[in-house]
Amino acid sequence: MPSISFEDVSYAYVDNNEAFLALEHIDLKIADGEFVCLVGHSGCGKSTMLNLLAGLARPTQGRVSIDGLPVEGPGPDRSIVFQSYSLFPWQTALGNVMFSFRQTNKGVSREEARHRATELLAQVGIEAAANRYPFQLSGGMRQRVAIARALAVDAPVMLLDEPFGALDPMIRRKLQELLLELWVDGGCCKTAVFVTHDIDEALILADRIVFMEPKHIVRSFDLPRTRTRSVDEVAADPQVQDVKREVLRLFDATSPEREAVL
Ligand code: ADP
Ligand code: MG
Repeated sequence: MPSISFEDVSYAYVDNNEAFLALEHIDLKIADGEFVCLVGHSGCGKSTMLNLLAGLARPTQGRVSIDGLPVEGPGPDRSIVFQSYSLFPWQTALGNVMFSFRQTNKGVSREEARHRATELLAQVGIEAAANRYPFQLSGGMRQRVAIARALAVDAPVMLLDEPFGALDPMIRRKLQELLLELWVDGGCCKTAVFVTHDIDEALILADRIVFMEPKHIVRSFDLPRTRTRSVDEVAADPQVQDVKREVLRLFDATSPEREAVL
């Protein structure tokens, strides 16, 4: 499975000839098979980091690479679930997932693709909506089709930008478990970069939490890799709870409202 590296990466958005620096001198290495959660207040550059990894943007300075090769565009080695991720409106939920499956599994029969896509829709809990078109689905259901579609790609790198944000807690918990199952993938972990606002979600999923403030990485927190990633274990593990306290302190210390008050 691939490793990821950001070396002295800066990124500026340019609008109407005005440049806005969103990332400045970022250095980050993510090991093979590591699950990293990026956390931090809105606007600190988390999505920009993922866009660079997805190949949807190129660094203004520095280098983003996967297994030593610079990222030059999107590729089948990376599956993405982004907030703005959209489905093909002219295909049903099933059609959308089948399409992704066949993209990365060339030569697979239509029947096999249908079978696998149906399985994935069942795993995200919406098999009953397989034949509906995106306009006939609620926002949460569309998001679950998008997740099933990313899972169908089965790429060695997974990039997820607040994928479970709009879902209710029960479904969210189920999908977190499903994601962990797919990440482990028979003992050989994929490399995952997951953006979330939810500290508890990060504590369950991550091997490492990377905390950002605007433009910069502030700190990294390692979590015990060997722990069981269940809600109960996370709540009971003193080492994990120490990390939680420290991350919450950082959230507080970097709050934009705080600056306004001080
Ligand atoms: P996050 O995902 O952490 O909320 P983003 O990576 O989306 O943050 O944005 C980082 C910064 O870049 C923010 O200040 C945001 O306003 C700015 N930004 C994001 N997209 C654009 C854009 N297309 N043009 C100009 N500025 C942008
Ligand atoms: Mg974002």
